[in-house]
Amino acid sequence: MPELPEVETIRRELAGVICGKRVDAADVHGLRSVRRHGDPADFCSGLIGRRALYVRRRGKYILVVLDAGNVLVLHLGMSGQLRWVSSSAVQPSRHTHVVVSFDSGEQLRFADPRTFGEAFVATSPTSDEKVDALAHLGFDALEAKVNSETLAEMLSVRRTSLKPLLMNQRFVAGLGNIYSDEVLFAAKLRYDRRANSLSTDEVRRLRRAITRVLRQAVAHGGSTLADAQYKDLYGRAGGFQYYHQVYGREGEACKRCQTRISRVRTQGRSSFMCERCQG
Ligand SMILES: [Zn+2]
Repeated sequence: MPELPEVETIRRELAGVICGKRVDAADVHGLRSVRRHGDPADFCSGLIGRRALYVRRRGKYILVVLDAGNVLVLHLGMSGQLRWVSSSAVQPSRHTHVVVSFDSGEQLRFADPRTFGEAFVATSPTSDEKVDALAHLGFDALEAKVNSETLAEMLSVRRTSLKPLLMNQRFVAGLGNIYSDEVLFAAKLRYDRRANSLSTDEVRRLRRAITRVLRQAVAHGGSTLADAQYKDLYGRAGGFQYYHQVYGREGEACKRCQTRISRVRTQGRSSFMCERCQG
């Protein structure tokens, strides 16, 4: 499932090609992908004739800000992929549910076999940062204004374990299963530590680890696992999977202390960790 680094990689690529281009046509082939709109024609009319101004990201959401105040919001869900292609490129795959055509002769195609992802148009939000449908999101994991003091206050009132809290998009937006494990390893903290039990120093380590791990992952174009569900805007795989310290490395040696990485199952989810490095 794409997390912040994968979505940020696509955002940057999209920002490089989409700005200034006008939507000529929009076609919906899969109703579930535009489920927030009662009628898919509603989705299309919110796009046609609009010009793309810039591209933002909030957590795992991509926001293409259009003129006249409309915003095209995209979420990749479990298996969603975006492609930027020439309109004359091979026919879209069976799982391509939305195709947006631009006046440049190019298309943005949204394919999503498992259909947990979505696309919708937010009309006239007060600002692109305040799309109502995204109001529930916590601070963006790469947002600098939540420093370790603020994070310490936020953690002090939470009794849950760290990992589910880091994956809770209402608390912090952008982290999923891969990066929460990598962040916790970098911060030397166990997945099941109570959020309100962290010392000042541990909160500082956690804040630094979030930024460092995510920045490195973005620099490598995100992680593409064996299931190949994540590919960038041009169908290329990311490279950060080769730098994972714990995720997917069960039984392999910890790169820090040589202890075998263990895999713990909780609530139907696997967490990878080093029992010796993380306390
Ligand atoms: Zn270790």
